[in-house]
Amino acid sequence: MASPAIEDQSVRVRVAGKINLTLRSGPRRADGYHSLATVFQAVSLFDEIEAAPAEPGEFTVTMHGDQADQVPTGADNLAIRAARLLAKEVDHEDAGVNLVIRKSIPVTGGMAGGSADAAGALLACSVLWDLDITPDELRVFGAQLGADVPFCLAGGTALGTDRGDRLVPVLSRGSYHWVLAFSDRGLSTPAVFGKFDELGCGAGTLEPPEDLLNALVSGDPVALGKALANDLSEAALALRPDLGRVIETGLELGAIGSIISGSGPTVAFLAPNESAAVDLSVALSGSGACHGVRRVTGPVPGARLLG
Ligand code: ATP
Repeated sequence: MASPAIEDQSVRVRVAGKINLTLRSGPRRADGYHSLATVFQAVSLFDEIEAAPAEPGEFTVTMHGDQADQVPTGADNLAIRAARLLAKEVDHEDAGVNLVIRKSIPVTGGMAGGSADAAGALLACSVLWDLDITPDELRVFGAQLGADVPFCLAGGTALGTDRGDRLVPVLSRGSYHWVLAFSDRGLSTPAVFGKFDELGCGAGTLEPPEDLLNALVSGDPVALGKALANDLSEAALALRPDLGRVIETGLELGAIGSIISGSGPTVAFLAPNESAAVDLSVALSGSGACHGVRRVTGPVPGARLLG
């Protein structure tokens, strides 16, 4: 148990998960990555990361939450990797940190849960260690940890290109009401991209769809619902055909659009307004088609300090 003095010095950060409103992917490149054009939206499902002082060289993490047992707590934990990377990049030889993570973002759910924790650890440690560092520098370090980390730092709505880590903000009016359908098990991102390659997907354009960008500018949920598109869907559905039934059920129950988030298996359903989202989440929950349901809104900000 930490002493009150140590607890007082701890830093708390909240980081949102993301959904991909559109994801276009080219074929596998020589470096093993796929060139992407994706529009991310940060949604109100948050992991909380607390960073407390530790002895020099001591880096620990404790995980809380339903799926905590599915996340490594050693050097492989993305938050630990982030803390160590930051210490190395700024030559902080005495650095150490005890991290506590309260997870709500599903593990291997296609919502960038690990990247969110890495982003949260970067921000929390930069404050804990009183570093003189800019948001842009944090984003550059984040990109070394994972393609989604820069977006988890930034939040909002953004277009990601290259590996998804080159970001430009996307103009988006209003707030959208989503119902997330969670799966009882995760889907590995490399496995989905492997299937994508095997099926020969990805020959299409890497431009973000005009209709999607126009829908966001005008704040029109119906147009957005029609424009949602994910090149990884076919591969995700080939690996997890049961997701087809989840999508059908949500649409039958009144969703105005649906999309598998990233590499899945989380499915995001769009509702036209808040009360329709409440109705949809109750009906979807009662249908038994998915393991869990959560109502969220987006866009929300990225990694933020909690008071
Ligand atoms: P993405 O949407 O970015 O493709 P994901 O949300 O599908 O990713 P994650 O939850 O980020 O998947 O998990 C990816 C892998 O990272 C898992 O094997 C998980 O065990 C590992 N991992 C390491 N550290 C963490 C962490 N702090 N939180 C979640 N997963 C972590």
